[in-house]
Amino acid sequence: MHTKSHEECRQCSRCGLPLTDQPSLERGIGPICDKLSTALFCKTIPVNRTLLYMGLVSFNSLDLPDEDVAFGKVTLNPRKMFESVKQKMLNKFKEMENTTSNGFLANGVNFNNEVKVIDWICSFKMSGSARLKLSQIVKHMGFHVLAGVLSGMSSTSEAKILFDDKTGFLTLEGAKCKGGKEECYKLSLANPGKVKFPTRLTKHFQVHASLADKFYAIVEEYWPVLDTVSSTAELAKAKQWWETELQKQLAAIPSVAANPNSKPVLGTDEGLIVHLPGDNIEVSFTWPTGTRKSIGWKIVDRIKEIVPMGRRKWNSKKVAWEIRLLPERKNELLDLKQIFAEHKFTLKEVTPSV
Ligand SMILES: [Zn+2]
Repeated sequence: MHTKSHEECRQCSRCGLPLTDQPSLERGIGPICDKLSTALFCKTIPVNRTLLYMGLVSFNSLDLPDEDVAFGKVTLNPRKMFESVKQKMLNKFKEMENTTSNGFLANGVNFNNEVKVIDWICSFKMSGSARLKLSQIVKHMGFHVLAGVLSGMSSTSEAKILFDDKTGFLTLEGAKCKGGKEECYKLSLANPGKVKFPTRLTKHFQVHASLADKFYAIVEEYWPVLDTVSSTAELAKAKQWWETELQKQLAAIPSVAANPNSKPVLGTDEGLIVHLPGDNIEVSFTWPTGTRKSIGWKIVDRIKEIVPMGRRKWNSKKVAWEIRLLPERKNELLDLKQIFAEHKFTLKEVTPSV
């Protein structure tokens, strides 16, 4: 074993750039990434005792470089550092077993010091799989935002969200990242046409205002250095815009437009079926509250039985189920009427004159 120079075996634990000055070498974090540290530590999730324990005991410290680096007269070695921080954590586990059965958080136990050691160890060059395992350990210690950055899934760039009321799309200004891209891809599969990926021209993710909350959740997770003040203001604008759009669409439906309240006002035992253009209908009734045994829930369950998921959509604005009837299954309509009859509901059926 020999002592290596820092340049040979180390880099910024967060972004992978070289560490050039003495304070950065000591921290294991470059000056730019260091300024962003607060954002990475301010949000935590509960410690996952089981997974943390498994992560620690299954991590093979031989996967870490066996390299001593010198700080003046002191030398430090990532492998030995890991073994010692692991032992500290396992001791905490033992203490907890002796004193309580309630898990860590209830007792104010945290790993604030230990996580800094692992963060420091991540400033050594190592295999991708070793880095991923360490970031998992960090996550189970409760520091999920930092874990995202250490694993390379999250962005360390500053980011903010902007809303354009001409297009109805939110734009994320910020560098691309792997985890965020994957989540946006999933969002786009479920919502065709509502998610735009960065191109050479746009360079940014763009998401339709109707998905504002879902998009914000992704951005918060994978772009931790988010300008939250301006971004939440833009988010509110987008949601307001979408609310107005929905009201416009609602007013365009004849049956609802005729009702001054915009929403069907139903008693506790009334149902309403509105025939929409094509083979579509809208079914509304007072949404059940209380136990699963109530009549309302029985109606919900029966409707789900009759109409498969792909053909019904709950419209929370109209407080109604939008249902697409299949031409060959027109008796579905009869079945639906039957459900209301069974439960002694008064049923109104409306075909708006267009
Ligand atoms: Zn960095």
